[in-house]
Amino acid sequence: MNRARNIRHRLTTDFQLAILSLMGAIALIGITPFLFVRAANGEWYAFVVDLLIETVILGCMLRAWLTGKTHGPSLFLAYFIGAGAVAAISALGVAGQYWYFPAVVACFFLVHRHHALGIALGTLLVVLALGSLVGDASDIASFCVTGIVCAFLGYVFAFRTEVQRQQLEVLATKDALTATFNRHALLDELERARRVHARDKVGFGILVLDLDYFKSINDQYGHLAGDKVLVELARLLEKHIRKNDRLFRYGGEEFVILAHDVDEGALIAMADKLRVQVETCLRSPGGAAVTVSIGGSLLRPDESIDQWFARADAALYASKGSGRNRVTVDSAHY
Ligand code: GH3
Ligand code: MG
Ligand code: MG
Repeated sequence: MNRARNIRHRLTTDFQLAILSLMGAIALIGITPFLFVRAANGEWYAFVVDLLIETVILGCMLRAWLTGKTHGPSLFLAYFIGAGAVAAISALGVAGQYWYFPAVVACFFLVHRHHALGIALGTLLVVLALGSLVGDASDIASFCVTGIVCAFLGYVFAFRTEVQRQQLEVLATKDALTATFNRHALLDELERARRVHARDKVGFGILVLDLDYFKSINDQYGHLAGDKVLVELARLLEKHIRKNDRLFRYGGEEFVILAHDVDEGALIAMADKLRVQVETCLRSPGGAAVTVSIGGSLLRPDESIDQWFARADAALYASKGSGRNRVTVDSAHY
C-alpha cells in the first residue's frame, strides 16, 4: 500500500520519470507483440533489433527509478531514439520514415529543447547524407520539409511549456504579497534539509519570527499600511541573511528562516542580529519602532520536521511570554 503510494507520488511529482515510464510502457506494449511475430516467422535480425530497442528503453526507465536521477537516462534515450530513427529509415525505407515523426516528438519530451532540435535535425542530415530516404526528389524534399516543420513546432511548444512551467513554479512557491518563498516551499525545504543533515551531518536551524503587536498597526493605520510593513520586513530580513539561508512567509505576520550550516552559537547570533536590525530599521507609519519576537531550534538527528518546527514555535512563545522583542533558541541537545 505504502509502496503504491510512493510510486504514485514519484510519478506525479517527477515529470521526467513519468515520461520515461510512459516510454517503457509503450515499448512493452508496442514492441513485445512484434517480438513474438518475428520469432514465429523466423525473422531473427528484426527480432534482435526489436529486442535491443525494448531492452534499452526499459533499461533507461529502470535506471531512473532505481537511482532517482532522470537526466542521464533521458539524454541517453533521446540519442538512442535518434540513432534508432536512422537505423529504421535505412533498414525499412518508407515504413521506417514514418517513425521519424514520433521519434522527434519523443525527444522533445525527454530532453531540453536545444538538444531535441539538434537530434531531430542531425538525424535528418545523417539519413540525407547516407542517401537512405526513399522516393523521387519531390518525395525526399517533402519528407525533409515536414520533418523540419515538425522539429520547429516541437521546439516552440517546448519553449512555451518551459515558460509556463516557470510561471507556475513561481506561483506555487512564492508568497504574493512579499515575494518570499511560501509555506508550501518551506515544507519541501525542511524535508530536503533533513535529508542533507542525515547524509552529510550539516547543521540546520530554523528561526520563526513574529511581529510584535502587529494587530495594533492594522487597527491604527489600516490593512494596507500593515501590508507595507510586512513587505519592508521581508526586504530587511532578506538583506541580512546569508546567501545559503532562505526566507519564507509562513502565514500572516509570521516568517521563517532556514539557516544552513549553523551551530547553536551561530543561530543565536544570527537571530539576535536580525532582531536588532528590525528594531533599528523597521518603523510603523507613525514612526514608532516595530519589533519581532524570535524562536529558533537546531535540527536534532532522527526528529521529524514537525517536531523540529514545534520546538522553534515553542521557543517563539517563550520569547513572546518573556516580554517580546526577544530571542529564544532551543538546543540541539536533549
Ligand atoms: P503578538 O505580539 O502577540 O504577536 O501580537 P499581534 O498583534 O502581532 O498578533 P495577533 O495574532 O493578535 O495578530 C496578528 C495580526 O496580523 C492579525 C491580522 O489581522 C494581521 N495579519 C495577518 N496577515 C496579514 C496580512 O497579510 N496583512 C496585514 N496587513 N495584516 C495581516
Ligand atoms: Mg502571529
Ligand atoms: Mg504577532
